Amino acid sequence: MSNPNIAYFYDPDVGNFHYGPGHPMKPHRIALTHCLVLHYGLHEKMKLYRPYKASAHDMCRFHSDEYIDFLQRVTPQNVQQFTKQLSMFNVGDDCPVFDGMFDFCSMYTGASLEGAIKLNNNHCDIAVNWSGGLHHAKKYEASGFCYVNDIVIGILELLKYHPRVLYIDIDIHHGDGVQEAFYLTDRVMTVSFHKYGNYFFPGTGDMYEFGSESGRYYSINVPLKEGIDDQTYISMFSQVIKSVMDFYQPSCIVLQCGADSLGSDRLGCFNLSIKGHGECVKIVKNYGLPTLVLGGGGYTKRNVARCWTYETAVLLDEDISNDIPYNEYLEYFSPDFTLHPDVSTKQENLNTKQYLDNIRGTVHEILKNLVSSPSVQMQDVPSDLLSLENTEELDPDIRNHQDENDKRVEANNEFYDGEKDNDKDTDGFVDV
Ligand SMILES: [Zn+2]
Repeated sequence: MSNPNIAYFYDPDVGNFHYGPGHPMKPHRIALTHCLVLHYGLHEKMKLYRPYKASAHDMCRFHSDEYIDFLQRVTPQNVQQFTKQLSMFNVGDDCPVFDGMFDFCSMYTGASLEGAIKLNNNHCDIAVNWSGGLHHAKKYEASGFCYVNDIVIGILELLKYHPRVLYIDIDIHHGDGVQEAFYLTDRVMTVSFHKYGNYFFPGTGDMYEFGSESGRYYSINVPLKEGIDDQTYISMFSQVIKSVMDFYQPSCIVLQCGADSLGSDRLGCFNLSIKGHGECVKIVKNYGLPTLVLGGGGYTKRNVARCWTYETAVLLDEDISNDIPYNEYLEYFSPDFTLHPDVSTKQENLNTKQYLDNIRGTVHEILKNLVSSPSVQMQDVPSDLLSLENTEELDPDIRNHQDENDKRVEANNEFYDGEKDNDKDTDGFVDV
């Protein structure tokens, strides 16, 4: 059987950015992941692209002009001139100003955007961007190590061709930035599995947050307690995703694979193994829909690299050896030098059967409301969107795609206006 057609985006510069000494977010984990992908020979089974760099204009499809203008102008050298903006845009502590910050944002955002474009044009079945998945960034502010929300920008691109986009988030933190962006629309369903309670960041994601106005019942939250293990997590994940697929019938999927839900993560408190985490990727892949696969959190670098390498192999239907091949970063993987070391901790699983049954019940009650919703039925995509005149592959080596960008037709069916979805006339949704 041939491999699925996968487009993999990687910028060799992305691993060279530093948030600053002691900061848990290490872009170098992306270089480490890529190194393993190469040494396992996985690159031979995929199309590799050096991604397009997103422009300020691309970022402003979601973010405010003032915020992006600030990100573009501030540097560690001139930061003292921006005292007011730093607090206004929540930049400073968790989200520091570092050298090349805007370039870093351009790279990871450009890769997600180009992944969405390739999926829209059927140039691949799956697009992978391990540098993306920065799910906390808000329209007007940075949050939780995230500055630009590449996920929202990628989904806005997918909405030009896809009537219903499903967003799934398995980072240990709630996917708050993505949920908030699409909270009022039924064209995107967001489903987030995360640790909730005891002021765990960002503090949102209760199961009773399920969307409002046209988006009522289109946000699903699975708030979990610490210590969840493979068996409990996978069982919850597979059941919730099956119900979501049955009720929502998306035409494509965006999967955020934050690896801070693994056991032994520097900031996390779940107890998933790399195989357990990868099982969620397998479950999503097996639905066979066009899928944009993104990274996210993950703060124990060696395990992030193991996890995303394994998941690249899962997406390719390739079995790879548990012995990590010789590579320049081999010492990171000592003492076992394996892909699947035991990452479990002694953390007790605080998710009781009763607690999980209660979540399952609530999710089902929310989804049941979709049955009577006519907007779940296919909205016709205007045929002019399917014109192939703009579908040439972008040359990954040409850095300036602004012309290509300008040529892209703004779709008539892009109901989402960047601020508030007012897609009332296709709604017909009954408020209960
Ligand atoms: Zn996270």
